[in-house]
Amino acid sequence: MTNPVIFCDFDGTVTKSDNIIRMMKEFAPPEWENIKDLILNRQISINEGVGKLFSLLNSNLKEELTAFAIENAEIRPGFKEFVEYTRTENIPLYIVSGGIDFFVYPILEKFGPFNGIYCNESDFSGERIKILWPNNCDSLCDNDCGCCKPGIMRRVTQGKECFKIVIGDSVTDLEAAKHADFVLARDLLQEKCVEWGINHRGFSSFFECINEINNRMEVGDVNVKG
Ligand code: MG
Ligand code: ZN
Repeated sequence: MTNPVIFCDFDGTVTKSDNIIRMMKEFAPPEWENIKDLILNRQISINEGVGKLFSLLNSNLKEELTAFAIENAEIRPGFKEFVEYTRTENIPLYIVSGGIDFFVYPILEKFGPFNGIYCNESDFSGERIKILWPNNCDSLCDNDCGCCKPGIMRRVTQGKECFKIVIGDSVTDLEAAKHADFVLARDLLQEKCVEWGINHRGFSSFFECINEINNRMEVGDVNVKG
């Protein structure tokens, strides 16, 4: 029996929709849609695609973009309770996000602190917005993830026996799901879990995530007390 650790995606998981897509719809010129399709069809890497998307935007949009993201972020029901649940049960909770620091941190602020928040970073010092990748793939991943979720999972759980739970919805969670012991999945991630035979359950609110994790602890899949 091993200890549970949760790795939770942000865009489309904590928030109901993808903040980058929402921002592009509002602020980017029409060619953003083509780049988005290339990312979703996995024709270009997330790293390259997200970099290209933000390079469509002028750096002087910083304040406006941040305000827009905070105002429009709709939090999935049960998230607050879910964070409290993990604290009560002493389950480490890491947010691992392919999103960008300037909107991830302010949206999460009132729910924290977390055991860790991993996301991409932004540089507004040039004419166009530049994305930085402090969590690039390690030597064991050649997926060009941008924010390498499997790499973060390896770092965080290094040397420890853990039951790794991944919560997510989309393309940035696929590699993470392959390294998980149990996945709570929505949308594309759920389809892929079915296709790849990954141990998973679907969910629509974080209340369901609480129940699923609780059930697993009761059947003894995981042992919180260590
Ligand atoms: Mg997502
Ligand atoms: Zn990677």
